[in-house]
Amino acid sequence: MKFATFSYQGSDHVGVVDASAGRVRPVSGVADMVDLIARYDALKSSLGSGADIALGDVKLLAPIPVPKRNVICVGKNYLDHAREFAGSGFEAGAVRGAEIDEYPAVFSKGPNAVIGPTDDVDMHSEITSSVDYEVELTIVIGKSGRNIAKADAYNHVFGYTIANDVTARDRQKRHKQWFLGKTLDTFCPMGPWIATGDELDPENLAVKAWVNGELRQNANTRDLIFDIPTLVSTISQGMTLVPGDLIATGTPAGVGIGFNPPKFLKSGDVVTMEISGIGRIENRFV
Ligand code: MG
Repeated sequence: MKFATFSYQGSDHVGVVDASAGRVRPVSGVADMVDLIARYDALKSSLGSGADIALGDVKLLAPIPVPKRNVICVGKNYLDHAREFAGSGFEAGAVRGAEIDEYPAVFSKGPNAVIGPTDDVDMHSEITSSVDYEVELTIVIGKSGRNIAKADAYNHVFGYTIANDVTARDRQKRHKQWFLGKTLDTFCPMGPWIATGDELDPENLAVKAWVNGELRQNANTRDLIFDIPTLVSTISQGMTLVPGDLIATGTPAGVGIGFNPPKFLKSGDVVTMEISGIGRIENRFV
């Protein structure tokens, strides 16, 4: 199933999406998406009825509009991107020939960064001139767990959504740590909804991004260096993951700094991202 959070006639709802029919059916009796995720096993059988609404008549929000904790992000998780990043001059401490890390690089973005699938991204032109895009398959945690074994990892996953890990490259480089360049307000468009894990094969999804209609990123999640079980297991070591936690799994090659000279975003640019089996997000940069 696909679940969206949306505004309709002045209030916010969670609903079941029928993407091919272009309809969404509100789910009653849940406080928000995290509440639905936490009680999903009990609610599952009662989600089937009620009036639906045309998707064109609602405003989609981020599936979890204000995450309770930071969005956890993985860096350098596709080989071609790890190489383009190391070669770009924007990775502090890059070591040529050692682009693949032994352990995943993990950082985070604050809840302040999250916006919806069609919202505008504020380019913060007063503090950065090197705004870049990164399409990423994002894991939505369903069941709490700590020290999760790889073999058990998918039992803790509720589903998947799309995130744009927008980055101010100058800040990422200058501060030698990625947080300040990644967590600016509006720097994490997400959506358009969550596809549950039983809907797709997360290890074989096409991941694409366009800038003003020009295809820039075109990859498949089978090329992740650290796969989903490895990420869930690694991140949960000593840290309890809870329903609604979000893990962005890293971006493939084709970001702006992969070009020489770099192609940073300009005001008015439109970035479109699509992952097969999930959907598409499209945000204007202003
Ligand atoms: Mg990223």
